[in-house]
Amino acid sequence: MGSGKSRATIEGSQVRQATPGEHPSRPPTDVENPKVLFLLGKGRAGGTLLNNVLGQLEGFTAPGELPRLWTWGLTEGWLCGCGRPVRDCPYWKPIVDRVLADSQGVSPAEVTRWQNELLTWRKVPRLLLKSPDSLEEWPTLASYVGVMGNLYRAIARATGARVIVESTRWPTAPSILGLVPGMDVRVLHLVRDPRAVIYSWKRRKALVDRPGNPEMQRFGATYTMVSWWARSFLAELVSRRWGRERAMLLRYEDFIADPNRNLETILSFVGEPKQNLGFVSDGFVQLDTTHTVGGNPDRLRSGRVELRLDDAWVQGQALADRLIGTVLATPYLRRYGYPFFPKRASWPDDGGT
Ligand SMILES: [Zn+2]
Repeated sequence: MGSGKSRATIEGSQVRQATPGEHPSRPPTDVENPKVLFLLGKGRAGGTLLNNVLGQLEGFTAPGELPRLWTWGLTEGWLCGCGRPVRDCPYWKPIVDRVLADSQGVSPAEVTRWQNELLTWRKVPRLLLKSPDSLEEWPTLASYVGVMGNLYRAIARATGARVIVESTRWPTAPSILGLVPGMDVRVLHLVRDPRAVIYSWKRRKALVDRPGNPEMQRFGATYTMVSWWARSFLAELVSRRWGRERAMLLRYEDFIADPNRNLETILSFVGEPKQNLGFVSDGFVQLDTTHTVGGNPDRLRSGRVELRLDDAWVQGQALADRLIGTVLATPYLRRYGYPFFPKRASWPDDGGT
């Protein structure tokens, strides 16, 4: 890993952390106003892998899809990226204890109820119209915003990270809309060829991070494309609100083709200095243990992981699915620079994430 990198150890688990004085050029951690880098887009577009790679950067922590902390992590007993139940993870325990203490003893079940009310398609228009000074008119939203603010600050305090990567990807999470005070927000809209996304959502995959190891939900091409369309539209809308300085678009295929150059771009985008990217080389990334909630089960992988574009969909996809994907995504294919007739050799080659 990077030679200039320091690590803090929380009961044997490595967490990226800046050590005061070791990097005099590094800005200090602002625990009251942490930088938060949100990943927007559709699931199975590479977000889990990108999240884990970003979490390897000095000064970054990438705890995954934070709304999942309350549901899958603390209520349903799913595993953290480190392989322990979230409740038993030494990364999460001090953070959760702090948030619950700072939030008048709120329970994970209560936050889950708030999320079930807020994070739905039906509430999208109302959330889009909200501003930080109009939260009190919606008590559930005001309560949820308060807890999530406490969560970001607790993460910054516990890890010392200057940048928190949030890979929720739900485009109207209140934090992504700038409704949580004190967050220094950037949004990264991650896209992947929608036909690859269709193919990935139809694949069988065991949820090894969940009790009983059931299979991940699978969806048909039409449903996936409607969801992809809606999320792309909203991600662009939200990105436009933040403006060019605070929003960027990244194609997953480009990230896999040249991860180092794209990591440099992201560092610059979040206002962080250059750093040693030696943990990514020759098409592989060296991943330390992660502490993630949400995301697909690949988040449990650590060690030397290949950065490879899984383009099996180009040859293996059913003609009907290809047609649905190509026709429904036509305006976006052009916009994001994807070919109408993809060839297998057109890209270096997917991680299925
Ligand atoms: Zn953990």
